[in-house]
Amino acid sequence: MDAKEITWIKKHGKKAQGKNEYIEYLESCIKLSFKKAILANCYQCMGFYGSGKRDDCEIVDCPLYPYMPYRRGIEKVKKVLSEKQQESVQKLVTFRSVARKTASGKI
Ligand code: SF4
Repeated sequence: MDAKEITWIKKHGKKAQGKNEYIEYLESCIKLSFKKAILANCYQCMGFYGSGKRDDCEIVDCPLYPYMPYRRGIEKVKKVLSEKQQESVQKLVTFRSVARKTASGKI
């Protein structure tokens, strides 16, 4: 995308979640965080919200739909941990607790 198009998006793209992230990506081509990448992708996919509305795309079969910033009627996505992940989290919590006690001289 050339500088003219980026300028156009800055000027005419509707203010919505993902605009700044999309512009940041276009200008620097840096690797965005997952959250920023999703916001940026939905922003460009929605035609920069050119309709003027920040609507739900309603494309429920899109893999990004659960993260679409303006989706409606769906509970927030909750991360479900597997048993192995839960064990890892518990180990990490225990490790941090011991490390904190050691650092403070309680052990
Ligand atoms: S969730 Fe909707 S707006 Fe976002 S990428 Fe998928 S189809 Fe496009």
